[in-house]
Amino acid sequence: MKRCLARRKLDAGGGWDAAHLRRLALAVAAEPVCPYDDEVAVFVDAEQRGENARALYPRLWQHIQECTHCWQSYSLLKESLEIVE
Ligand SMILES: [Zn+2]
Repeated sequence: MKRCLARRKLDAGGGWDAAHLRRLALAVAAEPVCPYDDEVAVFVDAEQRGENARALYPRLWQHIQECTHCWQSYSLLKESLEIVE
């Protein structure tokens, strides 16, 4: 008799949470680390909550657009979150 071990290896709770994705995205984008790096995650979090992050953090938003590193982090975070939704 064969015991079926067909237990699919899904994460408990079945999902990638934002924190996990953030670590992943930041690891991918982790080249010269910008001091604003953590702020980018805060910014994206605010957007995810439906807040007008661009109005709340105008200077940060400006920096994100000007800083290659932060823009990359921002794009990656947005991309990964869009996949989840
Ligand atoms: Zn930056």
